[in-house]
Amino acid sequence: MNCLICNAPLNTQNSVIKLNQSVASDCTPVNLPAEILWCDECGHYQKLVSAEYLRKVDDIYKNYQPYSLNQGKEQQNFSASIPFTRCVKLIKNCFNYLKDKDVCNYLDIGTGSGAMLQAVESEHQDWTKYAQDISDNNADLLIDKYSLVDFYSSLSDVTLNFDVITLIHVLEHIEDVDGFLTELGGILSNSGIAIIQVPAIEENIWDFAIFDHISHFSRQGLEALLSQYFDIVTFPEEQIAKEITVIVSNPRRKPRTYIRNNRADKHTEFNQKQGQIRSLENVYVLGTGPAACFCASLLGSRLLGFLDEDPDKIGKSLLCKKIFDANSNYLRPIYLPYPLEQIRQIKVRLPQHQLIY
Ligand SMILES: [Zn+2]
Repeated sequence: MNCLICNAPLNTQNSVIKLNQSVASDCTPVNLPAEILWCDECGHYQKLVSAEYLRKVDDIYKNYQPYSLNQGKEQQNFSASIPFTRCVKLIKNCFNYLKDKDVCNYLDIGTGSGAMLQAVESEHQDWTKYAQDISDNNADLLIDKYSLVDFYSSLSDVTLNFDVITLIHVLEHIEDVDGFLTELGGILSNSGIAIIQVPAIEENIWDFAIFDHISHFSRQGLEALLSQYFDIVTFPEEQIAKEITVIVSNPRRKPRTYIRNNRADKHTEFNQKQGQIRSLENVYVLGTGPAACFCASLLGSRLLGFLDEDPDKIGKSLLCKKIFDANSNYLRPIYLPYPLEQIRQIKVRLPQHQLIY
């Protein structure tokens, strides 16, 4: 097995994180063990990919239920006290790169339930829209709802060029990164841009717990990868918390060789968190996203329930546990599987609780 960024051989006997349980990106628990490798050469984190791992990932995608608690609406983002639509914010953050794209061919890769199409519909009515997803479960619905010209199951079916392509939480799922980025470069028009968004492992170590995320990117790692395939790689100034947004254009004819970057260790902290959760007594967990679901699977019967601030979720159940109102009072402590910056904001919003993190 080789590093997806720098192609250095990886020692599969030497994983830095072992997960006995994890969660899929749709929050369903995964009971198959997973391991994470750390590239000695460039510091990239990636899952140990075996035939069994790929079979399970396939299985996850076949039964995918994105954010069923919210009936397909986006997950509430705990980075803001008021929930906002992540995709609209992303388009606003990329405004400077999109303002000259009045009439354009637009493709959303990995469209899922169409959250990005909805955001584009509200911000850029003139664009001609296309979408791609490996699952065509939502195809008819999305074609109808967003007047899509075409829906592709595979990128290799695409014969057009596009002026704007979005890939929201796609790249971290890709196993053949080289083939994928080459294909992406091939369908971008001369002046076209692709907006790529992935989770930021340096801001949020809980991303390690998501089984079907093959890559866990740092900003430097992502830049080192993308600059092998694109001449222009830009990070917009405004970024969304816990995510990395990057814009690429001018695909290279031949990939450039990898440029060395700095390595940062995030796995020690994650392993400490796994140990901490194993030793906790009965607790609640704040939130209902992948990190909270991961804690739930480690806690088992020690989990008293989930707490959430979203009225749409309170009173429902998740993984057979009740979701309670985070604004009520509780006798037992509450565990926070979040980055420190986010915990600081939670402490301001929910000062009455005994919090563990
Ligand atoms: Zn590497």
